[in-house]
Amino acid sequence: TVKTHIDGSSPQESDFELKTAALHLSVEPGSKDVIVKNLYVSIDPYQINRMKRVCSSQKLVSTADGITPGQAISANGIGRVMASGNPEFEKDDLVVGLINWEEYTIVKGGNTFRKLDPMGFPLSYHLGVLGLSGLTAYGGFFEVCKPKKGEKVFVSAACGSVGNLVGQYAKLFGCHVVGCAGTKQKVELLKGKLGFDDAFNYKEEADLKSTLKRYFPDGIDIYFDNVGGKMLEASVANMNPFGRIAVCGIISEYTGIGERVAPDMIDIVYKRLKVQGFLVIDYLKGMDDFISTMSNHLSTDKIHVLEDISQGVESIPSAFVGLFRGDNVGKKVVKVADE
Ligand code: NDP
Repeated sequence: TVKTHIDGSSPQESDFELKTAALHLSVEPGSKDVIVKNLYVSIDPYQINRMKRVCSSQKLVSTADGITPGQAISANGIGRVMASGNPEFEKDDLVVGLINWEEYTIVKGGNTFRKLDPMGFPLSYHLGVLGLSGLTAYGGFFEVCKPKKGEKVFVSAACGSVGNLVGQYAKLFGCHVVGCAGTKQKVELLKGKLGFDDAFNYKEEADLKSTLKRYFPDGIDIYFDNVGGKMLEASVANMNPFGRIAVCGIISEYTGIGERVAPDMIDIVYKRLKVQGFLVIDYLKGMDDFISTMSNHLSTDKIHVLEDISQGVESIPSAFVGLFRGDNVGKKVVKVADE
């Protein structure tokens, strides 16, 4: 649980508390509850927005409800059914969907998840490359950015869960891709294993507008934005006419400690840029097609899987806090229990 709301600062491990409670592995007769033993939970930046006070009163920050301090924190995850009053689920079923950052979750009515067929892939893939991170990258890149072969694509937080996949899809599609990330090791990974055409460490760059000019002498056609702030400002300045910007997330602004910078709006007018925000839920109806395409890519080694797994429920606070320090390389998940 989170002890209090976290407003306008980077989260700290001390903001969190691990609580224990007795659990009976049986459901009340007549109820449709399902008791799930949690195996993997997803660690996502957007949770910080749910922890802000404003989110508990007016759903301004996210489509997800605010998190009440002291209560379990819901999150996407994978688990095994231990007991079920819901005829849709049986003991030992694997499920994926909304559970909590905890070891066991009692899901009231058992309707926040679906049965999971792992299709021979590691379970954690179903939170990342075959799960919502992958769908975010896929929907955002293909539906929002509407790429054309040969176009110049820039991705921020490129070594993160969504970013690394956007870059890989863009390469597969035939685009020229440059990513930025916050360490030398990540930059090497992007240029090496992940096949980006180029990459740079944004923390070593003093003037992002001229950095982007250097990497994109002919301008950017597509910017997939995971960070907002100064990087968005610099990208708009370097976009080509009729360029597209997919605003997936603005992590540099979630903690409220960065300067708030706005892009030059007149650039958007004169260059006729399209700037579109989106949510992964917009693409859920395409999930089955997405999984089938992506499992083919995985089976033929077209996509390199980048995931970063911590062990044990007690590692959740540091895993989460680490997202805002750039500790993670790829999809961050916590393995809560053995399968
Ligand atoms: P990541 O795996 O990318 O983890 C976050 C990364 O962001 C860190 O590793 C770090 O990498 C980078 N970062 C952290 N703080 C800053 C900062 N101040 N400035 C620049 N970069 C920073 O997370 P996800 O892939 O899960 O999410 C990426 C973005 O996509 C987030 O903004 C998230 O909210 C959004 N998102 C949106 C969805 C939607 O439906 N629209 C769905 C899922 C995610 P580095 O080393 O590069 O600094």
